Amino acid sequence: MDKNRCNGCGKCKEVCAKGEKIWKINNKLAHVSNLEFCHACMLCQMKCKKNAITINRPWIDKKYQKTENNNII
Ligand code: SF4
Ligand code: SF4
Repeated sequence: MDKNRCNGCGKCKEVCAKGEKIWKINNKLAHVSNLEFCHACMLCQMKCKKNAITINRPWIDKKYQKTENNNII
């Protein structure tokens, strides 16, 4: 979360299937309260118009790296 970019619009919470459990919007700023419920679907990142969210999915990145090197299992 880039707090300098977030304007507290609440879209991340709105689109997230677990929004109530993960996101809190306070003082025009989004806060991640519990990532245990996140399944890394990327919806919040895609819908954030301020590009304030980055979801890391190391298992996917690893797969892409293998693809680029033609080492797909
Ligand atoms: S969608 Fe982006 S700008 Fe809007 S509250 Fe969430 S993180 Fe902040
Ligand atoms: S990536 Fe996580 S926090 Fe974002 S919308 Fe999906 S489940 Fe919610």
